[in-house]
Amino acid sequence: MSAAGVVVVGGGQAGFSVVQSLRGAGYEGPVTVFADEPRLPYQRPPLSKKAHTEPDDLGIGLVPESFYRERDIDLRLGECVAAVDTAARTVTTASGERVPYEQLVLATGARNRPLPVPGAELDGVHSLRSPDDALAIGRTLTTARDVVVVGGGFIGLELARVALAHGARVTVVELAERLLSRAVSPRLQDRLRERHERDGVRIHTGTAVERIEGRGGRVHRVVTSQGPLRADLVVYGIGAVPREELAREAGLAVADGVIVDEQLRSVSDPRISAVGDCARHPHPHADGLVRLESVQNAIDQGALVGRRIAEGATVPYQSLPWFWSDQGPVKLQIAGLRASTDEVRVVAGDIPERVAAYAFRDERLVAVETLNWPAEHLAARRLLQQDVPVSPADLSATTLGALARARRTKEVRA
Ligand SMILES: Cc1cc2nc3c(=O)[nH]c(=O)nc-3n(C[C@H](O)[C@H](O)[C@H](O)COP(=O)(O)OP(=O)(O)OC[C@H]3O[C@@H](n4cnc5c(N)ncnc54)[C@H](O)[C@@H]3O)c2cc1C
Repeated sequence: MSAAGVVVVGGGQAGFSVVQSLRGAGYEGPVTVFADEPRLPYQRPPLSKKAHTEPDDLGIGLVPESFYRERDIDLRLGECVAAVDTAARTVTTASGERVPYEQLVLATGARNRPLPVPGAELDGVHSLRSPDDALAIGRTLTTARDVVVVGGGFIGLELARVALAHGARVTVVELAERLLSRAVSPRLQDRLRERHERDGVRIHTGTAVERIEGRGGRVHRVVTSQGPLRADLVVYGIGAVPREELAREAGLAVADGVIVDEQLRSVSDPRISAVGDCARHPHPHADGLVRLESVQNAIDQGALVGRRIAEGATVPYQSLPWFWSDQGPVKLQIAGLRASTDEVRVVAGDIPERVAAYAFRDERLVAVETLNWPAEHLAARRLLQQDVPVSPADLSATTLGALARARRTKEVRA
């Protein structure tokens, strides 16, 4: 067996961030990444922002293969880790190879929740996670006239706009009574719905998909609780579940994600860390443990674990969560973590399409959601990350951007 070093399972955004940070912080031991997908680690967000028909046009690359070679990172593409032996400190690949580790990082991501209705296996019914999914959807869109999107979450709404831009008739079917029901505050849900409907997306909330019917093996219509919808393409985005089976089978604590401490170490084994979509972690802005599916979370968690292993730094994970979703002409951005009980104030910006929702807990700003207002989002990120207290009264007649500027001017004068 080779010398033990750091083994990373998962070659996605979080796994990449771990090895980038390890080598960046001067770690000189062996580094191996097992990535079960056949391609170099890539970013997923571009997959749902436009239609893709050519592999060269995906725009998802992170770094070229030379990055790994020059840093002596053993990137094992297309190799799946099938088991972890925590006593022997080894991982075993699907082909039976055993590899020792000093430190193991699980960066296994999440998988899409399957659509549990008859007909979900028909041609023309897709979910979106990989470049192959994106290409299949993009190529079908070139001829599709009727598109049904199942799920009014971030990915569903992004795809609805992509299909609309292709000239398709688009219907979004959402089981809950509202779009993005758990993700953004009700006033912003309404704004988004209004905008998408105004532009021609048909939206059926409180509606269940009962089955999908085909003709000659291809999707023909979607039967919902409100009646049938014609469809040449069905795309569903109904959430994701963490890939936690390796951890569970190795005897680590899991509960909708691998449970980690504030330094992102498994609570069951300090030699094992978990980062990104698969990790459930404590966070100073959350009431309990949270599992976040975002690029920011994957990058920041990977970077923290890489530095901890390389430098022995024992800093708790407390990066401010932030997120974006591009839905056609609407850029939705979120900074911070909002709970359903927070007091939310909505403020219109200087142009009609700009909106901000400020969420307060105990009279203190905890999260900011914006539509088409990147400057306000950036101001929110700065203030929330620096833990600067902002009360509802502070924002009664001004925006965060203006407040931050005023406070800076006051500091300079003082
Ligand atoms: C279509 C789409 C659009 C998105 N858009 C946005 C956006 O606009 N903004 C945003 O913030 N976030 C977005 N996200 C979420 C974001 O992409 C994820 O949060 C991020 O990719 C998580 O990174 P990760 O490394 O944890 O997981 P992943 O990127 O999923 O990587 C995990 C990798 O591990 C591999 N793996 C799993 N098990 C094993 C094993 N046993 N052996 C070897 N390899 C294994 C998986 O195959 C996968 O390649 C989007 C996600 C999708 C799917």
